Amino acid sequence: MTSSTPGQRAPLMALDQALAELLRRVKPLVASEPVAAVDADRRILAEDLVSALHVPPQDNTSMDGYAVRSADVTAPGVVLPVSQRIAAGHAGQPLEPGTCARIFTGAPMPAGADAVVMQEDTREVGGNIHGVHIDAVPQPGQWIRRAGEDIACGAVILHRGTRLSPASIGLAASIGRARLTVVARPRVALFSTGDELVMPGEVDPGDMAPGAIYNSNRFFLRLLLQRLGCEVSDLGIVPDRRDLTLAALRTAADHHDLILTSGGVSVGEEDHIKPAVQQLGSLDLWQIAMKPGKPFAFGSVGRDAGAGAAAGECCHFIGLPGNPVSSFVTFLLLVRPFLLRLQGVPEADCLSAMRPLRLRADFDLPRADRRREFLRVRRNGDGGLDLFPNQSSGVLTSATWADGLVDNPAGTTIARGDLVDFISLSELLA
Ligand code: AMP
Ligand code: MG
Repeated sequence: MTSSTPGQRAPLMALDQALAELLRRVKPLVASEPVAAVDADRRILAEDLVSALHVPPQDNTSMDGYAVRSADVTAPGVVLPVSQRIAAGHAGQPLEPGTCARIFTGAPMPAGADAVVMQEDTREVGGNIHGVHIDAVPQPGQWIRRAGEDIACGAVILHRGTRLSPASIGLAASIGRARLTVVARPRVALFSTGDELVMPGEVDPGDMAPGAIYNSNRFFLRLLLQRLGCEVSDLGIVPDRRDLTLAALRTAADHHDLILTSGGVSVGEEDHIKPAVQQLGSLDLWQIAMKPGKPFAFGSVGRDAGAGAAAGECCHFIGLPGNPVSSFVTFLLLVRPFLLRLQGVPEADCLSAMRPLRLRADFDLPRADRRREFLRVRRNGDGGLDLFPNQSSGVLTSATWADGLVDNPAGTTIARGDLVDFISLSELLA
């Protein structure tokens, strides 16, 4: 890889700085609600989960076989009578010395037994005595799962701020929790701007006016928001009129935690979002040193005291670029961490999906860009990465083809065989 000096244009803001600034300015939500554990996937835990028991609750066998006192089996070939049978879910009696207990996976160990001989190392002895011939000498403790070896009584198994997953909800169930207290869903108002936009389903392809395009951002933004636990108010396309834009922002601010828009944040563009947000609150227009996705607007819109808001209360505002790939990538790299932090996820965990893997580029990128680039790539069968041929920020096909992004530093070319930083899209979309 080679590096070159970026050109002498206006300074851009580094992505890491933009992220730090966003996370610093989030006001995490305080409201929480109880939900059934089965409905809590991807929600954020609002309590520390403390175990009131050991898991497993008692010593039990991890094999089908025979529970023994190891002192009774000091050489192979010992025959022990079977004095009891213990199935999972049933408690046995203390083990009589000189005998063994038939035992099945998950069953509690009988008092006195200190090892399990797996069924495969035994033979049943026929005839009058019901006994087993033990072929292998057991080590004390063999095939026993100890009480509390997964979770000790009193331990915190999951901390508040954890984003719940099927595995963590299973873990919560293992300490008896069928209901969990999670952070309230962020309420997000979503709207698109741009006079060229029409809604799919409302106009047939054959009837499109010259210059019109379908509003694709609305669909993926809404779904991405929902995956992050948000309750979305879809305000559709807000017409390009100052009065209607102001009215939409005012109403949305009263009842939402975030207003998210796409389009109309490029420098110098004639649009109504920027002045309207400025009029009702504050707005910073950032030029982020990333490609795709340079323009990004962040601010807040004041809430109306008449609607019950306390003085100075406001709703967050984020304006994404209109180009679909820019919108998609800036959502994943900036809005996603913001929404996780809004729900109380610790800062480091908000960014963990962006930790890269080092993988081999099976492509060349001969032209360096002055911005940090997020290239749409896909893993191939040889453990390397292929590059989608058209990296234009308007080509949404690249985002469906790709399974990841190469995080390529500013001013850096890539030669076939170089190791590059790969960020998995499935982690960012989880
Ligand atoms: P803008 O950020 O408004 O300057 O838009 C940049 C480009 O993205 C233009 O080509 C727009 O037509 C396109 N665009 C803006 N919003 C959307 C949208 N919601 N869906 C699809 N394309 C869009
Ligand atoms: Mg526009």
